[in-house]
Amino acid sequence: MTTARNQDARRRVPRTDTVLADPRLADLRERTDPVLLKRRVQEALAEVRAGTVEPEAAVDRVVAGFTGSGSSLRTVINATGVVLHTNLGRAPLPPEAVQAITAAAGYVNVEYDIASGARARRGAGALAALVARTPRAEDALVVNNGAAALVLAAATLAPGKEIVISRGELVEIGDGFRIPELLEATGSRLREVGTTNRTHLRDYERALGPETGFILKIHPSNFAVRGFVASVDVRELADLGVPVVADIGSGLLEPEPHLPEEPDADSWLAAGADLVTASGDKLLGGPQAGLILGRHDLVQQLRRNPLARALRVDKLTLAALESTLTVRLTPTRAALTADAETLRRRAHEVAGRLIGIHTEVVPSVGLVGGGGAPERELAGWAIALPGDFAEPLRLGTTCVVARKVGDRTLLDLRCVPADSEDELVEAVLDASRAIDHPPERHPDEPH
Ligand SMILES: *Cc1c(COP(=O)(O)O)cnc(C)c1O
Repeated sequence: MTTARNQDARRRVPRTDTVLADPRLADLRERTDPVLLKRRVQEALAEVRAGTVEPEAAVDRVVAGFTGSGSSLRTVINATGVVLHTNLGRAPLPPEAVQAITAAAGYVNVEYDIASGARARRGAGALAALVARTPRAEDALVVNNGAAALVLAAATLAPGKEIVISRGELVEIGDGFRIPELLEATGSRLREVGTTNRTHLRDYERALGPETGFILKIHPSNFAVRGFVASVDVRELADLGVPVVADIGSGLLEPEPHLPEEPDADSWLAAGADLVTASGDKLLGGPQAGLILGRHDLVQQLRRNPLARALRVDKLTLAALESTLTVRLTPTRAALTADAETLRRRAHEVAGRLIGIHTEVVPSVGLVGGGGAPERELAGWAIALPGDFAEPLRLGTTCVVARKVGDRTLLDLRCVPADSEDELVEAVLDASRAIDHPPERHPDEPH
């Protein structure tokens, strides 16, 4: 429907050059790429033409589109109770790692020995920290992510050869990412053994031969099979005379008492795995990275593969990873191990500050997330808000992602740092005002 008001607005659309020359854009003109700035102005004018922005508001619209940093990624308060939320960037970094990233952002001695002034091994500090934290690892290598670690292992240890793997471990991780397809993309062949529910040592034994590159043991991190099941553990596979590569997924370096089912690098190396691969941004609580730990000669082989150069990480990742490894309690582990009583007390305190809003503190089940420990329920508490707060909370000045259960919106404080509580309270009060007083619509605007 074309209204008289829309037609009027269209006639009043300012020219791109006029908007660009507006004094209110002086600062942006100085700091911002001119092509990008012009594009943003054109986008704002398209909204004016569409009648969704008043002509007088076009300049404000352009200014509002630029954040201080120039990045469209926004900080989010994760009130879902899911610790490693893949859509929210998995592990939140420890403050020390954030500091390390800032320090590494400029020129930095990532491949430079300050004492001698000569070239040095890239990221030596991060690798040393990894080996120090994983005593049974003779050597370590860091690549782009867990998937890259598997690619490098396959391309180095089984080019044109067979990777022996149990049919119970042919895993899809998420978003259509299937480990078997990834491995085949390197030119290796999969030699599947056993059945979906049961695989025995003799199945592996029968499959081994001159074509074997290595045995791959994958921790089925995001599902559980129950009933008539059998699998072969690393300790037995280690005696078969071929390299065993074990993908633990989560990145735990040592056993985590809160997650007794979750494998860790040191234990699987102790059991006889020759290499362990893992992610950096799951339970380790660090930046996105792929960790490769284990036998020195094999790690060295992987390091010398030309592909290693294509899969390497940047200085920011190395800085954040090394820093994370030095931290006693990462935010990830703090969220994972937060005790229910503390969460209940915090929920009551926050609820008490939500003046004028009817709230209730209710039991809430958190999750590890990120495709880890799918069966582990983390007992906690949440603030239940009436009606639909989810959307205004997401769209407010501070973006809060809550959990919708039925017609209630739950705020689980497990993954909300204590120093973000003020911001959370402010965001809920804002959302409440937005619900009580929705932005005024023009009378002839269609609903
Ligand atoms: C998460 C996961 C991967 C993939 O790791 P990314 O770091 O996401 O590439 C591989 N294997 C297992 C078992 C995983 O859980």
